[in-house]
Amino acid sequence: MTKDWLESAEAIGAVDAVLAGVGLEHGSRKTRTGAWKDGERVKRAKASVAAASRRKLGAPGVVRVAAFEALPWLRAGFSTRLGGASTAYGDGELNLGWTREDEPEIVAQNRERFMRAVVGKSKVELATVRQFHGGMIRIIEKDHGPLATADGKAVLRGDGSMTDVPGVLLGVQTADCIPVLVADRKRKVVAAFHAGWRGTLARIVERGVGTMQLRYGSKPKDLVAAVGPGIGACCYAVGEEVRFEFESQFAYAPELFTEVYDSDPIRDKYPLLFLTARAPGHSNIGPQIHVDLWEANRRQLLDAGLAAKNVHVVGECTGCAREKNGERRYFSHRMEHGYAGRMMAVAGVVG
Ligand SMILES: [Zn+2]
Repeated sequence: MTKDWLESAEAIGAVDAVLAGVGLEHGSRKTRTGAWKDGERVKRAKASVAAASRRKLGAPGVVRVAAFEALPWLRAGFSTRLGGASTAYGDGELNLGWTREDEPEIVAQNRERFMRAVVGKSKVELATVRQFHGGMIRIIEKDHGPLATADGKAVLRGDGSMTDVPGVLLGVQTADCIPVLVADRKRKVVAAFHAGWRGTLARIVERGVGTMQLRYGSKPKDLVAAVGPGIGACCYAVGEEVRFEFESQFAYAPELFTEVYDSDPIRDKYPLLFLTARAPGHSNIGPQIHVDLWEANRRQLLDAGLAAKNVHVVGECTGCAREKNGERRYFSHRMEHGYAGRMMAVAGVVG
């Protein structure tokens, strides 16, 4: 496994000033949405659009992978929350999802800015999918129909897509789930996958590589992949049923799970205070079970035949690296209790 990613330091630096002036803590979710009346919402939207056009926005912060940057026909990257026009979750942020808290025109503006940051002047059409935590993969052919509605919403349902058509920029959206991008260096094919625990369990990435072989004749040795920013094993506690499901599917499942014991000093000092009346083995004071979805998806890429040196794990956790060096770097559905924007991972072939 290699960890490499480039970051545009000056892009990040440019938004520092904007972010520094914001006093919003992540507790700001509270009940804001629920409290909005229609009139308030419209007024707020107008104010934020006006503010966005007045403010000089920093460049979107994009996480890039060196192995992708080396391919001249490929454009690919993972967004962060830095350098956008949204004010719904914090000022000057790059929310790329049509969330109910944000304004569609601001999201559209953010998407345009992010795409420009990734593809430059190339003409591209964004192809997102209506994700549902499944294993469905869409192949976008040359004579594809409309990929988005007039207001930018995805038409196709699925959690993965692939194409060799120049000018189609594949996108998957995440706010903790794992985005995985794959490129065929020889045949110039790209693929994008959205892998939460359900998609990972459905082997979306492993099956995706299989689909690339069938449809495009891709050879695993020509493939290069990146496992993007997403929730790490450090922050991802799951229920016992998730471990059970993984154990029934993957021989290597035990390597994906760790038991994390609560190191509460009071509990350690006075264990008797925390005894329950339940039978032994049925106490709810047990370890938390954490799952490593980065590694799970890396293993799927290896099982699909990719060389380890061609699998790049960005290795940044949207949970604990959500705030880093005083900046709010990633959206995290879990850490923000559902009140979160969306990031996007994109990959496309340019002509
Ligand atoms: Zn973490």
